[in-house]
Amino acid sequence: MGVLDLLDRWPVFRQLRKGDATALGDTAMTERSRHLEPRTAGADRVVKSVCPYCAVGCGQDVYVKDGRILDIEGDPDSPISRGRLCPKGSATFQLVTGSHRIHDVLYRRPGGTEWERLPLERAMDMVAERVKHTRDATWEDTDVNGLDVHRTLGIAHLGGATLDNEENYLIKKLFTALGIVQVENQARI
Ligand code: SF4
Repeated sequence: MGVLDLLDRWPVFRQLRKGDATALGDTAMTERSRHLEPRTAGADRVVKSVCPYCAVGCGQDVYVKDGRILDIEGDPDSPISRGRLCPKGSATFQLVTGSHRIHDVLYRRPGGTEWERLPLERAMDMVAERVKHTRDATWEDTDVNGLDVHRTLGIAHLGGATLDNEENYLIKKLFTALGIVQVENQARI
């Protein structure tokens, strides 16, 4: 390798040689960085989604390869966020892939001190049994003034800000059908 080639590996020298005062162009690159590719380059499709972390609802592009998520980035088409994500939203990839994520239902029975692992089907049955029991035990056809109400005040729901529009719609629909009137969301508090 000649002296000029050696000097050319020095970014300041390349800047001087090419008159690139800001070093924002080609002179900022190395042989290694010239061949780097974003990890999204191998995606076979991009799915539009919404950040689940807060009520702002920033748009996200979910990059998928062979049915697995490669990366999640801000969606430039979103009129809400125009491609931006805050640090929390930028870390959404870890929400679905993080090694600390719990994949089982954990249950701590009344008075219990330990978490027990339950099959999802069993846990869903337990929730349904409790809803049915409480609704039956607290059902009111009329209020204290004799007005028709057909409701239960024995169950309330507080949703989290990570719920999206579609989930909130279904929750409200289900709970209203059950006669549950105390339905609130953390995003309104
Ligand atoms: S990216 Fe940040 S501001 Fe946007 S919805 Fe997610 S948590 Fe909220």
